[in-house]
Amino acid sequence: MKTIKITPRGYCHGVVNAVNTITNLDHLSMKLPVYILGMVIHNKQMVSSLENLGYITLHDSTKTRLELLDLIDSGTVIFTAHGVSPEVYKKAEQKSLDIIDTTCDDVFNSQNVMKDYLKKGYDVIYIGKHTHPESEAAQGISSKIHVIENISDLDNINIKNKKLIITNQTTMSIYDVFNISEKIKEIYPNIEFINEICNATRIRQEAISNIPHEVDHVYVVGDKLSNNSKKLVEVAKKQGNTSSSLIESITDIDILELSKYNCVAVSSGASTPTKVTSEVIRFLEKFEKDDKSTHDTSSHLTINNLLTIKTLS
Ligand code: SF4
Repeated sequence: MKTIKITPRGYCHGVVNAVNTITNLDHLSMKLPVYILGMVIHNKQMVSSLENLGYITLHDSTKTRLELLDLIDSGTVIFTAHGVSPEVYKKAEQKSLDIIDTTCDDVFNSQNVMKDYLKKGYDVIYIGKHTHPESEAAQGISSKIHVIENISDLDNINIKNKKLIITNQTTMSIYDVFNISEKIKEIYPNIEFINEICNATRIRQEAISNIPHEVDHVYVVGDKLSNNSKKLVEVAKKQGNTSSSLIESITDIDILELSKYNCVAVSSGASTPTKVTSEVIRFLEKFEKDDKSTHDTSSHLTINNLLTIKTLS
């Protein structure tokens, strides 16, 4: 099967930093147990790999980072690349936990931009996913930060302040954020938009929005919990004008569907282990509709060999 590898794809610098920091920790000099507050990256395979090394991931999609901290009484806590609110930091310190913070620089920068404007008396309209840890961290900075996921959410917010800015979660769709910000400007004509989509997200979305015409389908390899992976599928469909699906690994490939295509393309989310994507690409390149020996979608990856990481782009 003709298979086009979209670049850049895969791990971003924030994920590389978080995983390398964690895997290089010296357990002998640490307060045990070591907890990770939330999934280090939104990838279940990576979480399993870290569990094998003795890290305890605290993940419950119904609980905030602050609530998850209630489950820890001693040891070390690792904050993920998505960042945490000042309250989470304070609570961890009050519990005398050792803290390892792997917040991505791009998330830190976006938080600092908001803090600067708050100091100048502004309110912030923040375009992000309500349940995403990065939005939760932003909301925890101040009650003057108002998270909206779509324009209708504005109906639930009563902002009297005339000093207002719009900004956003770093991993949103660049196209959705632009469209929502334009609608907000119709309501608040003088509002300033400070775009905080991170560079890694932006260039991956731009690459997938320029799909060659010959491509019948785009596979995005990524976890179903990964916001940036889901956004890549949306962008491929809307801007790339092609069919696209999210697959977590080779095992999600539907042979009947694949047999209808002549050419496919592959991208992957910023939190997808390189080896998972490489296995998908190898399978697709070998695939021949009439050769059943190329149709086996069982994965040969083991949990332990996912921890060596490098950027693909
Ligand atoms: S997707 Fe962007 S903000 Fe998130 S960890 Fe990667 S570089 Fe940082």
